[in-house]
Formats: sequence, C-alpha cells, structure tokens
Amino acid sequence: MKKKINSSLIMIAVVGILATVLLLTLVYYDLFCRQVTEDLKTYVAFIRQYDIAGDLQESGTIVHKEGLEVTLFSIDGHIIYDSNETYGQVEDSSEQPEIEAAFADGEGQAVRKSNTLNRSTFYYAVQLNDGSVLRVAKESESLFSIVVSALPSLALVTCMLIVVSMALAHYLTAKLVTPIERLAVNLEDKNDSPEYEELSPLIDTIQKQHQDIIKNAKIRQEFTANVSHELKTPLTSISGYAELIESGMASETDTVRFARGIHKSANRLLTLINDIIRLSELDGTEEAPHFERLNLYQLAETCVDMLYMNAEKHHVTIDLKGMESYITGNKQMIEELLYNLCDNAIRYNNENGSVTVEVYPRQRNTVLVVRDTGIGIPKEHQDRIFERFYRVDKSRSKSTGGTGLGLAIVKHILVKHNASIELKSESGEGTEITVTFPDMV
Ligand code: ATP
Ligand code: MG
Repeated sequence: MKKKINSSLIMIAVVGILATVLLLTLVYYDLFCRQVTEDLKTYVAFIRQYDIAGDLQESGTIVHKEGLEVTLFSIDGHIIYDSNETYGQVEDSSEQPEIEAAFADGEGQAVRKSNTLNRSTFYYAVQLNDGSVLRVAKESESLFSIVVSALPSLALVTCMLIVVSMALAHYLTAKLVTPIERLAVNLEDKNDSPEYEELSPLIDTIQKQHQDIIKNAKIRQEFTANVSHELKTPLTSISGYAELIESGMASETDTVRFARGIHKSANRLLTLINDIIRLSELDGTEEAPHFERLNLYQLAETCVDMLYMNAEKHHVTIDLKGMESYITGNKQMIEELLYNLCDNAIRYNNENGSVTVEVYPRQRNTVLVVRDTGIGIPKEHQDRIFERFYRVDKSRSKSTGGTGLGLAIVKHILVKHNASIELKSESGEGTEITVTFPDMV
C-alpha cells in the first residue's frame, strides 16, 4: 500500500510539473507574440506619420535600426514600396492572410516561419486612408527556439521540483500510513479510536469477528472437555465389567448381569457419538440442506405413532391434535426435531401423565406445540437447557439414557428453518414448548 500511494503521489506530481512547464511555455510564448505585435503596431503608427510613398525613405533609419521590413501595397495589391526593394511584384494575398484581412477589415496580422531556421516573422498590416495597405514585418524567435534556449534551465527546475515532490510524497505517504500501521498493532484497544473515522466500521467488524472467534474457540474447548467426560463414564463401566469377567471370579449369573451392563454402556456410547456427529453435521454451514414442502401434521403423526410404545412403557399417554399445515423444511431435520421434543415430553413425565402434540396454521405461519404434564423445568434452568450437555437433573436424564444434546440439536434445526421457540414450564406441573415455523414460500 505504501509503495502504491508513494508512486501515485509521485506520478501526480510529475504530471503536474510537466503540465505546468508546458502551459507556462505556451503562455509565455503567447505573451511574447502579443508584445511583438504591439511593437509592430507602434512602428506602424510611427511610419504612418510620413507621407508614405515619398517620405518613407526618411523613416528608413528606424526601419533599418529595428530590422523591420516595410511594404506598401496599392489598392489592387501591387507592391508600391518595399524596404527590401522588390517593387512592382504582385504577391499572392491568399498566402498572406494579414494583407487580405487589412483590405477586408482595415487591419490584419500573421506569423509565418522564416527561411532562417528557428525564427518566425511577425506581420502586421493596416489599411491607410487612401485605401493602400501598409505592412510592417519583423523577424523574431520562434516557439521552438525559445523552448530550446530555455531547455537547460527548464530541465533543471523540473528535475529539482521532481526531487522535492518525491521527498514530499515519501513524507506524506508515511504520514498517511502510520496511523493504519499503528492500528494494526493496537486493534484490540477499544479506547484507541482510529484517526480515520472511515476505518471505524472496519475495526468494529474485525473486533467483533475476533471476539466471535475467541467465543467459538471457548465453546469448542468446553465441548471437547464435556465429550471426553461423557465418554469416560460408560467406558469406565465397560472396562470395569470386562475386568470382572476376565478375572474368572464372576458367577454365570453375574456374567450375564455384567454383559447387560456392558451392552447398556455401549449403547449409551453409540447414542452419544451419534448425537455428536449429528451436531457437527449441523454445525457445518457449507452445504445448504435440501428443503421441501412438508405436511407437518403428517410428520407429527408418524412421530407420535413411533413413540406410542415408548410412551406406554412410561405409563404416559400421547395424543395428536390439530389439522394439516404445511411448512418448507428439511424432512430429516423436522423428524429429528419432533422426535427430540416428544421424547423429552415422555421421558420427563410422571406416571400416568400425558403428552399432547398439536399442529395448526396461524396466520401465515405453522405452529407446533408439545405439551406435557411432567416434572417441568425450574425457572433458573430454562435459559440453559438448549446448551450442549446441559441437563437439569443429571441422574434422571442419564438413567433414561439422555446425553443432554437433544435440545442443542433442536436449536440448530430451528436456526436453519428460521423458526422461533417459546418455552413455558412450571416446576412440577409440566412443560409447553411452542415452535413457530415461518411461511417460507
Ligand atoms: P438427549 O435428548 O440428548 O437424549 P436429554 O433429554 O437429557 O438428552 P435435552 O433433550 O437436550 O437432553 O434436554 C436437556 C435437559 O432439559 C434435560 O436433561 C431435562 O433436564 C430438561 N428437559 C428437556 N425437556 C424437558 C421436559 N419436557 N420436561 C422437563 N425437563 C425437560
Ligand atoms: Mg432429550
């Protein structure tokens, strides 16, 4: 960036300097031309005083002294007098615009290249009272020769200016870039407001991203620690049972009991690992899930049917209410969501309790309610049950095979579907979870 700003500044300066030099040369040359023409006009005024044809010789001194060429043209364009003595010639006035202009408008002027290299001849012609035209010409330096003669000093000044602007560009670049460099080192310091206010949004974004990265890293770290901890318990019990069987001291009935323990712990490990895999799948945001039109009522019906036996085992009734309502979503995810909510409602229920699942459209949305008459969730835990591995009553959850990941998965699914969730729960009375799916068509 520094290099780019520096070279841009130098380029602007060089272009500026060259343009100025060129412009100044042109302005100077224009002034020079005006001056020469003004001089010619003065000469003409002076020479006019003489009775032209006869006395013109008398003005010869000044003509001679100033290196002028004086020509007098008759009305028909013949040369009556010429200080170079080329009388009688008829000059082609189309090649001499100043004569043409003088006959037409009373005066005319022109500049033509001289035969001599690098010089120009300036002409000024005026029509006299008798209709004849008097022309005075003077040879002077051309633009080219002026430039050539001024070239060494112009080049010197230009070079000096370029060197000065290079130094200035260097200084300005450093001045411009230093606050940004300082910022790069101090990005975390929130009190250090940036010198360029345009950078504020960028810094805010970077700071926010940085905080997010730290937060995510912390969550990951906690998650890894939790996973390890959760894996440890069933593995320890598997290892313990296996050791007892290995020692040969266990009786046959014990061996069967231990094998059942191993089986249970292994199943728990499998559930846990499945949930973790599912969570990490949902975490990966690269692939957008396949969304389709789904009949939520029908999916809830399938889920209720599937859990019917399970509910009966827990001495809990499960019912479905409501009417057909459609959402746009991923079938597998919605099935998982329904399963997790209904499974919790059965699992954390009381004997002879009930679970009611309700699906109905409301305005342009679809609402899913899972209500139970279970143990409820104490207020202080309600905010946290969607966290990974969070369980209100660890022993109850574990004894029913819970991993504490179900609602974390639900939360992910809700985000993917832009759905909102509302939790109403009273300890000892029951829980009501309401999910609202937006109309996404
Ligand atoms: P998993 O669903 O992964 O098998 P889990 O049921 O313990 O395990 P979550 O579904 O995430 O995990 O629920 C977290 C905790 O919230 C539960 O352990 C339980 O304490 C509480 N909870 C969830 N649903 C209910 C409910 N309907 N009634 C009472 N408590 C609930
Ligand atoms: Mg659960």
